Amino acid sequence: MLPYASLQEAETAIGRSLTTAETLWFNYTANKTDYIIYCHNIPLIFLLSTLVPLFYLLMEYVFPDYVAPYKVQPKIKVSLYENFKCYLIVMRTFFLIVVPVLLLSYPSIQMIGIRTSLPLPSSMEIISQLLIYFVIEDYTNYWIHRLFHIKWVYENIHKVHHEYTAPMGFATQHAHWVENLVFGIPSFLGPAIAPGHMITFLLWLALRQIESVENHSGYDFPWTLKKYIPFSAGAEYHDYHHYVGGQSQSNFAPIFTYCDYIYGTDKGYRYRKRLLQQQKLKMDGLYAPTPDIKSE
Ligand SMILES: [Zn+2]
Ligand SMILES: [Zn+2]
Repeated sequence: MLPYASLQEAETAIGRSLTTAETLWFNYTANKTDYIIYCHNIPLIFLLSTLVPLFYLLMEYVFPDYVAPYKVQPKIKVSLYENFKCYLIVMRTFFLIVVPVLLLSYPSIQMIGIRTSLPLPSSMEIISQLLIYFVIEDYTNYWIHRLFHIKWVYENIHKVHHEYTAPMGFATQHAHWVENLVFGIPSFLGPAIAPGHMITFLLWLALRQIESVENHSGYDFPWTLKKYIPFSAGAEYHDYHHYVGGQSQSNFAPIFTYCDYIYGTDKGYRYRKRLLQQQKLKMDGLYAPTPDIKSE
């Protein structure tokens, strides 16, 4: 809850007029406790887990001709029933496991020092913190994901997430409840290391959710932001991890490609990609074999 009784009091305290965003934030949060503001992450994650996959599903059914060239595994079509079934399973885990953990996790947010007060962070502060969060998430997630591919862990936990060898948006959080909790840790690690404003925190959770659904969407659209970010993974990159299935020791990183490159866990993927490029060039009559292309 903001420690000001009025807008004027807030302006006096920070020594300047409030911006429009700050006025809106003041009006919205003035009578809400910090705990209630934090708990906005629950409807936020719920809505994004529902609406973003629904967007991809609608694209598939309403504009099939437009989306067809961008489908990563064009021969696979997941039925509406299967999508709905997957969604219900994901929501069951969300409400029975994730929501209670989020409701109880507030003391850790207090301990970290995420603030709800004025002034609001500058756009530069938000962008730099989000960048840090993405890098930390990616690196931590990479190693946790590798651990999840150790035989026992895979068979008992991670196998659930790999049920879909051609994932779709609703399968993003289709995972064992233990996995849902463990993979939540990297998302909190960044804000713990570089704590910021609650707005940045909620924005981070939203972007992370959208990014994760995109990875599982099954579509590699040319207009996604990731196409313009260096070293970024994407739907096609993570799709390969699912396509290979249980034996997959490739493409563990969720956001960037450099961890897989540095630690050598993208060799199969890169080899396959080159083969596909060669096949395409052959079909176009442009292929001239080079001696250095060999299996890794
Ligand atoms: Zn995996
Ligand atoms: Zn996945």
